[in-house]
Order: sequence, then C-alpha cells, then structure tokens
Amino acid sequence: MKKTRRLSKLLKSDCSQCSSCCRDIKVEVTDSDIERLLKHTDIPADKLVKLNSIAEVENEEENDWIKLSYGKRTMELNKRRNGDCIFLSNGKICITYKVRPMTCRIFPFCVVFNDEEKMVDLEISEVINDKTIKCKRTKGNGRSYKLFMSTAKQAQDEHKRFKKKLDEWNDLPVKGVKNDFLNYLGFKTSNNGSKNREGCEIRSVC
Ligand code: SF4
Ligand code: SF4
Repeated sequence: MKKTRRLSKLLKSDCSQCSSCCRDIKVEVTDSDIERLLKHTDIPADKLVKLNSIAEVENEEENDWIKLSYGKRTMELNKRRNGDCIFLSNGKICITYKVRPMTCRIFPFCVVFNDEEKMVDLEISEVINDKTIKCKRTKGNGRSYKLFMSTAKQAQDEHKRFKKKLDEWNDLPVKGVKNDFLNYLGFKTSNNGSKNREGCEIRSVC
C-alpha cells in the first residue's frame, strides 16, 4: 500500500533536475540507444560505453550478460572519473537530452508489458527504494501517462531486440573482446577488435 501511494505520487511529480540519477547510477544501454547517441556525438562507440565486470554488478541474475573472452560483462553508458555521466555538463545539464538512453527516459520507473501490450508491472527503481540515490522530484503536473507508456513500451521492445542479438553472440563458439562485440552489433570502433587489442584480457574494464 505504501509502495502504491509512493508510485502514484511519483507519477504526478516533475523532475527537479537535481541530476542525482546522472551521477550515481549505472545507465544500461542497448544497441538502439547507442545508435541514437552516435548520430549526435563524434565519440566512438567504444568510448561511449563501458563494459562492467561481474564484481561491479549487484545482482548477477538480473543482468544482460555479454560473454567475452575474458569473462561476463554488462554494457553501460561511460562515466567520468568522478562518477558523472559523460553527457552531464556542469554537473547539471544533459547535453544529449533529446537522444538520451531509454533508461534515463523512464527513470525512476520499471515497467513490464505482456505480449498483448498490456502493462503487467510498474515499479519504482531499486535505486530509489534502497536509497542509493535521492530522487528530488517535486509535486507538479507529472508526465503525460500516454507518452510515458509509449516510451516504456518502446524501451521494452528495443531491449527485447537487443537481448536476441545478445543471445546469438553468447552462443558463438569463439568469444571476442569489447570491440568485437560492438563491431558485431554493427558499430565502428577506434580499432578493430581482438586483432589490435593485445593485452585487453588483463584490463579490469574493457
Ligand atoms: S544521458 Fe543524460 S539523462 Fe542520461 S545519465 Fe547521462 S546526463 Fe543523465
Ligand atoms: S534524480 Fe529524480 S529529480 Fe533528480 S534528475 Fe533524476 S529524475 Fe530528476
């Protein structure tokens, strides 16, 4: 009951642009997110994303694993040394707002639809519930429910397509390195994968 009240309150609230979610959380991305971002930046795909190792994720079961020659990884938007998203300017402004990843668009909610496109679950993000970040949304007009639901549906569809590609990659008999995976998704990288990535296996984050 408490959760439901909190959820409906959040749906009626406006983002205060406190930027906590651009600093303190990991933004998982799909190939569709990367594709949109690449049209608005000259950063190569391999600098745009970071592949995190098992030790850096909390719940192994809930992640989309990418099997590489040196272990399993998840794909997230890259961050600066101070933990800020690479697209956060002056600690406040998202310079890629119009093409920001789906995770950012639907934050702080997690929505699940069934095959008939009916919403079967709507939750507040774990990072809000476990107080990893303080989302300072303020009372306001809230989002257009229709627009929010269509964005959430798009996010789920794109994630499904990405997952299919991921499963195909993970079934390949020979695993490559980060750039091999990005090349497999169709992205150009600053070099061409394993042939030029000697020593990549010993890097903690590739
Ligand atoms: S892409 Fe924009 S909205 Fe998303 S985390 Fe980065 S700065 Fe924030
Ligand atoms: S943490 Fe909440 S209030 Fe702050 S920028 Fe993110 S969505 Fe907006």
